[in-house]
Amino acid sequence: MSFKTLDDLPQDLTGQRALVRVDLNLPMKDGQATDLTRVTAVAPTILELADRGAKVLLLAHFGRPKGERNSTMSLSYVLGDVERVIEREIMFIPEITGPVVEQSVGILSDGDIGILENTRFWPGEEANDPEFARAIAENGDIYVNDAFSAAHRAHASTEGLAKLLPAYAGRAMEKELKALDAALGTPNPPVAAVVGGAKVSTKLAVLENLSRQVQHLIIGGGMANTFLAANGVNVGKSLCEHDLTDTARAIMDAADGAGCTIHLPYDVVVAKEFAANPPSLRTCNVHEVAEDEMILDVGPQAVEALGDVLKTCATLVWNGPMGAFETPPFDEATVALAKTAAALTQAGALTSVAGGGDTVAALAHAGVTDDVTYISTAGGAFLEWMEGKELPGVAALSA
Ligand code: ADP
Ligand code: MG
Repeated sequence: MSFKTLDDLPQDLTGQRALVRVDLNLPMKDGQATDLTRVTAVAPTILELADRGAKVLLLAHFGRPKGERNSTMSLSYVLGDVERVIEREIMFIPEITGPVVEQSVGILSDGDIGILENTRFWPGEEANDPEFARAIAENGDIYVNDAFSAAHRAHASTEGLAKLLPAYAGRAMEKELKALDAALGTPNPPVAAVVGGAKVSTKLAVLENLSRQVQHLIIGGGMANTFLAANGVNVGKSLCEHDLTDTARAIMDAADGAGCTIHLPYDVVVAKEFAANPPSLRTCNVHEVAEDEMILDVGPQAVEALGDVLKTCATLVWNGPMGAFETPPFDEATVALAKTAAALTQAGALTSVAGGGDTVAALAHAGVTDDVTYISTAGGAFLEWMEGKELPGVAALSA
């Protein structure tokens, strides 16, 4: 995959109006942003463009206003947070096209930053209406996309604009694309994938794609139960999609044909009730799960064996926790495997890339956030990429 970055622009951007798509869809509680990770992620791009002399015009969506103005979802709500993170003043522009934008941009000096109103207030955004995109493009000379998390949507601000203006990946997008490419695009073999989480049904396409791409597919979490059941294991009252055992079987057969080894747990942590440190907690072989027990985590012997698999690999891609990690002690397998992956990464033996909402939380819980190669917070876009899909926002940047 080849795409242009900010390095492909002239150093001096004075006089250039840069339309910059960012992710400012911040999690909110009682009108306050609860996490500024997304702002921190795009700050380097914003500051670099401004410092190189461009007029920076930020484009972002916020919430789901469904193509109508909605005062509760105005980007003016997050303006203060962005200003605090980048330590610059930002002009709020309450439109996205037309004379108000043109006049506001005229007032901005070189190196100043403005933010346009929520892209999704206009139906042309999600419809990827070329007229709408053209009207936005009138106030820009270049387009920079720094919002990988929105790249799985073909919207005017994520895809349409890239076709109308010279288009560049911002620094966060560049980092994300390079990390993803190192994990699955052109990875160093052998490659291991860890797929966990609750259900097979939400990750069928991920499992199918990975079984064709990687040498070791480690399946944990609730979804492992469906695979175990497909192998004739009695999983008791575990979370299990019995209607998908044929599908699980087909994935195992396909993996076999593609030279991919599937690793399922052979010991497990079970309990009769799903609670923290329940009295019925025990560890057993997968063939010894009782009718009234649930599998809630991968067992310690399997975790050790999986760690040995990782030691033979050069690349790891990880989505989904190995157990019900929110409830102790069912976090132990996830934490132990995460620590092994982090140690191998720190030793220079492994490139490790992880993503997914609960996975980000699980790896943070394991304390390895800064010790793996890359953690994607992109959610839906990360999963679609793991499914092997082309992301329209990324494809539009490809030179
Ligand atoms: P991600 O958001 O990283 O893609 P998922 O949403 O697919 O991950 O799965 C995360 C959820 O899976 C967690 O809430 C976790 O508690 C649950 N889970 C993992 N293992 C089990 C299990 N054995 N039984 C029930 N739930 C599980
Ligand atoms: Mg999830």
